[in-house]
Amino acid sequence: MIDAFGRNITYLRLSVTELCNLRCRYCMPEEGVCKLTHGQMLTEEEMLMAVRAAARLGVSKVRITGGEPLTKPNILSICRGVANTPGIQEVSVTTNATLLPPLAVSLREAGVRRVNISLDTLKAEKYRSITRRGSLADALRGIEAALKAGFDQVKINAVLIGGFNDDEIPALAALTVKWPVDVRFIELMPMPGNLDFGPESYIPVSRVLDALPQAAPEKEEGVARLYRLPGAQGHVGLISPLSRHFCASCNRIRLTADGKIKPCLHSAEEISIKGLDEDGMAEQMRRAILLKPACHGSLSADCPSQAARNMNQIGG
Ligand code: SAM
Repeated sequence: MIDAFGRNITYLRLSVTELCNLRCRYCMPEEGVCKLTHGQMLTEEEMLMAVRAAARLGVSKVRITGGEPLTKPNILSICRGVANTPGIQEVSVTTNATLLPPLAVSLREAGVRRVNISLDTLKAEKYRSITRRGSLADALRGIEAALKAGFDQVKINAVLIGGFNDDEIPALAALTVKWPVDVRFIELMPMPGNLDFGPESYIPVSRVLDALPQAAPEKEEGVARLYRLPGAQGHVGLISPLSRHFCASCNRIRLTADGKIKPCLHSAEEISIKGLDEDGMAEQMRRAILLKPACHGSLSADCPSQAARNMNQIGG
């Protein structure tokens, strides 16, 4: 469906849970979140109904996210249901990968084609500190399991944080030489719950190019500008929600685990579809698409996102 500004909306980010086994400092509070009751959450059947409604409006690509989607006991059945929805051509999952080893092959068999894995550092101490509880070894085992499972594509996403991992840009980028993966650096976004990051944390992804003078530009793909290191199997990608936002080509809507459509990641606008039938859901999605703003306000340490939720409650 075409929105009010001529953008073709073809991409749904489906958050299947707000819960996560990690507590990344920029994403969710240390104490976790107040667990929603079953009645507040979308059921699996409602999620699949929402995907059918979205497909009727022209959505062809679904990314399953959270929270941590692999903490969801019925994740395989959700993925299979989404992949089998008429009109859905591509299903991908975003995960921290720590729970991936026993699930990778089954996810692939369930129809998941691509996996995005979050990894901000290659140093075990720093991994534990940024995730407040995770183990780097578990995440690396997850990446290796993803590579073995035969997904069409594995991407690694690193949130670039000044003073935290900008010294690791070459090491993280070198993963594209070691493995057939894209490594994408994403600018830290100032969300409501992470405002204790100071201005020095918000650095532009142009710093990646400063640190990688040998990186050659290749192409733009969706929201990422892609480069390649000599001899690399995959790309280094730059995603710049702050320094060069991509609202003009935004083709996505988001559905939260409690059934709210978010037309824009950084606006407070939410439209509920919980409890509706498929026609009702499609109608509310149509409204949400027409409410998609041309652009969100500028984002910086002084000018945080207007989103009324943290990323774990939206689905990054
Ligand atoms: N648990 C999964 C994971 O770790 O990939 C999926 C959910 S997580 C919210 C999705 C993505 O959002 C992760 O790559 C995470 O790094 C990113 N993210 C969360 N908060 C962010 C922020 N404030 N700025 C930039 N990226 C953020």
